[in-house]
Amino acid sequence: MSNDLTALDDFLEDESQRDFTRVLRFLLYTQGYAHVLVYGAKEALAPITTRLTDTFPALNKNVFLVTTTSSGEVLVRSAPAGDGAAAPLNFGAALRALMRQDPDTIAIIELPAKELMSDEDLQLVVNAAMTGQQLLIGCAASSLAAAREYLDAQHSELSMVQFGLALEAGINAEGKPRLVSLQLRTASGFVPVVHVSHDGSVVVHKELLPEVPTPAPLPSPRLAPPLSKRPVPTIDPRPVFIPTVGSSDGANSMLGGTTALRLAGGEWPRCRSCGEPLVHLLTLDLEAIPAPLPSPTAGLAQLFVCANADRGCKVFAESDEGVCALVLEKSTGLTTLHDPVADRHAVIAPGAITGWDEYQEDPDDQDAPAVADTASSTVNSDDAGPLLCDKLGGWPAWAQGNGWPRHADGSPYTLLFQFHEGGVRSGGFSGGWDYEQAVTIPSTSGDLIVDPNLPRRLHDLWSGDAVALLFIDATGTKLALRVQMS
Ligand SMILES: [Zn+2]
Repeated sequence: MSNDLTALDDFLEDESQRDFTRVLRFLLYTQGYAHVLVYGAKEALAPITTRLTDTFPALNKNVFLVTTTSSGEVLVRSAPAGDGAAAPLNFGAALRALMRQDPDTIAIIELPAKELMSDEDLQLVVNAAMTGQQLLIGCAASSLAAAREYLDAQHSELSMVQFGLALEAGINAEGKPRLVSLQLRTASGFVPVVHVSHDGSVVVHKELLPEVPTPAPLPSPRLAPPLSKRPVPTIDPRPVFIPTVGSSDGANSMLGGTTALRLAGGEWPRCRSCGEPLVHLLTLDLEAIPAPLPSPTAGLAQLFVCANADRGCKVFAESDEGVCALVLEKSTGLTTLHDPVADRHAVIAPGAITGWDEYQEDPDDQDAPAVADTASSTVNSDDAGPLLCDKLGGWPAWAQGNGWPRHADGSPYTLLFQFHEGGVRSGGFSGGWDYEQAVTIPSTSGDLIVDPNLPRRLHDLWSGDAVALLFIDATGTKLALRVQMS
C-alpha cells in the first residue's frame, strides 16, 4: 500500500495528474508530517479524507477514522476499512476513547459544527494534535486562510498546531470530489507546491519540496590495478616519482613528520595570522631529487602550512599568512628542530623519504589542448593522465583549472611536488527520490581506491579533499603554492 500511486486516482481528472499523488505520497512517506489539514468543499472531505486514511503510506500503524453524522453522532472505525463501531454520542468522548488506544493516526473527516462541541471537546482536539499522533483534520472552508480562521475561532490554541500539509479538496463539474492544491508549511507560512491549473494540468513546484533524507553511504575499499599496469602515456609523457617513506632519521628529505631541518639558530615557523606553529609538510633536498628533474641549487625546498584554515587562516598561496614556502641554503649550517605541537598525527603522519618509484604520466586536457584536439578517441588520455596522489614532478592533477605560476617572461614554473588530501573514489551515485516509483533511493558510495603501490596522501589540512601544488622557479630559489579543492 505504501507505494500505491493509484489509490487517489479517483480524485484526479485523469492519470496525467498523478504528480499530485506522487508529491503527496512523498511528503507523507518520507517526511512523516504530523498534521494534515484537508479543507475545501464539504462534499469532498469525506471521500478524500477516508481514502487518504485507508491508504496512508505507512504500514503497521494504528489508524482510526472519525466520522460525524448529521445528527452529531460519531462513528469510529479502524483503518484501513476496518469495522465501524457505533460510538459514544458525543465527539469528545469518542476522541478520548481513541486516544486511550495509543493511535498513530487519527483522521477526523470533518470537525463537528461548533454548537455540537464543548470547550472540553475542542481542548481534546488540541491535545490530540500536540501529543504525538498524526492527525488529519477535515474542515469545510473556501480557502486555507478561512480554514485556519475557522479552527482558530473554535479554539485559539489550535493556531499553535503546526499543520505540516494542507490539502485543498474541491468538486468538479460532474460533482465529483477532486484534489485541487497541496500547500506545504514552511518557515514563511504555507506555500503551494502542487496545484491543478485551469487547463487541468498539474503544476509541481519541485524547488519548494524538502530534500529527501538519504542514509549516509558506507565506503568500500577496492584494490586498484597497480600503477605499473597503467596505460602507456602517449601525449606528452613526463617522469613522475612516488615517494617511498620510512621511519629512518637522518634523511634530509621528509614528508610530514614532527621534525624539520632549519637554519642553525632559527625557529620553527609560525602562522602570521594566528601565531601557532605551522605544520611541516615537506622538506625536499633539491640536490637529491632524481634525474631528470632539475636540481638547480644545493638547497632545501620547504613547505609549512597552518592547521587552522577552518578558523580563517589563509593557506592557499605561498604569500598567504598561514604558509611558509621557501628554499633554504644548505651552506649556512642546519639544525633539526621539533614541532612545538606535540601531536600532529591527526594531520599528517611522519615519514622520511627513502626512495622514489618512477612512472610516466600524460598531462590532463588543459595542459595539452592542442594535442587533445587532434588525438584520436583511441588514446586513453584519462587513464594515463596525472596521478592524483602525493608525487614529485610530473604533471599537475588540476582540480579547478590550469593555474601555472609563471616567470616574468611568461614561462611556467616547474611542478616540484603535488599533495593530495583524502582518498580517491570511483563510482557510486547520490540518493534521492524516485518520482516514478515514489520510493526513496539510498545513495551509494564510490569505492575507495586503495593502490597496491601505496602512494601517500595527506588528509584534512586544507579541505580534506584538496590538491596542493608546489612549484619551483627556474633559478631554484623561489617556490609557489597553488591549492585547489576537488
Ligand atoms: Zn594560522
